[in-house]
Amino acid sequence: MIYHIPWIHTPVRTVLAIWHQLSKTEIPELAKCSVLMRERSRVEETIHAMQRAGAGSLQVISDFDMTLTKFTYNGKRVPTTHNILDNQLLINENCTKKMRELLNTYYPIEIDASLSAEEKLPLMVEWWTKVHELLIQQKIRKDMLAVAVKESSVMLRDGCKLFFDRLSEHQVPLLILSAGVGDVLEEVIRQNHVFHPNVHVISNYMDFDKTGVLRAFKGQLIHTFNKRECALSQAAGLRQLQGCPNVLLLGDSLGDLTMADGVSEPKNILTIGFLNDQVEERKESYINSFDMVLVKDETMDVPNAIIRYISSSRDK
Ligand SMILES: [Mg+2]
Repeated sequence: MIYHIPWIHTPVRTVLAIWHQLSKTEIPELAKCSVLMRERSRVEETIHAMQRAGAGSLQVISDFDMTLTKFTYNGKRVPTTHNILDNQLLINENCTKKMRELLNTYYPIEIDASLSAEEKLPLMVEWWTKVHELLIQQKIRKDMLAVAVKESSVMLRDGCKLFFDRLSEHQVPLLILSAGVGDVLEEVIRQNHVFHPNVHVISNYMDFDKTGVLRAFKGQLIHTFNKRECALSQAAGLRQLQGCPNVLLLGDSLGDLTMADGVSEPKNILTIGFLNDQVEERKESYINSFDMVLVKDETMDVPNAIIRYISSSRDK
């Protein structure tokens, strides 16, 4: 008999009206079975508020590996920016072997749902540091990076070109905050012809000597679980992101959720998490942490539909 109580009747009707509008007509992609939401009404209210403010108030903050790139293609893992370096042109067999051993040791820890971020943190630092030390020993040549990217099987998600192009068209800043290798990441988006002027990258950049040989990594190490510190120390200062209080955040790791912590005076933040791996073990924690979870969805269909809707505002 709850629907007879007047004070609950109206909000329920409003929520149903919004749901009907967004899911059924304006953004039918939200009804895809890969989309999970803890609180659908809040998500739809946030998208509505972002649409009313228009594309001019929007910024997108995204992770790169396994968020903008695919997780698998034809049943095979798509390489991350670090794994693209696993190419005979750049590193020897022994180094490949050592990097795989590190992956087999530390990746299960990264995605272990029974460990907290605090417990994982020192181990992630250990993993990244060991990988970077190995890479430096290999004296990687800068001019071979483009070849390694071309020869790799890295792939952006389906619809990613539209994602980059639409954000550029509406002059929406896109900040990519990646724990991968910035030089490789830039080469991937350059070769996909989507490195538009609205794209800003914060990542681990290589430091080459005068002859173009890798000698170190620049600045503060970025790994999966210190993105908050990077957002506060580096992203917060980016002039291009000022005046964009509405944030669409995309990630595939719980550590990605802190990427918007550097945004000053945010108004609306919508977080979307790609759940690629260990779905059953991690589904609950993802639903409790991200506003929207996309399960084993190798496309950008949902983010694209939301951006299309937000940028359809007449008074932008
Ligand atoms: Mg990632």
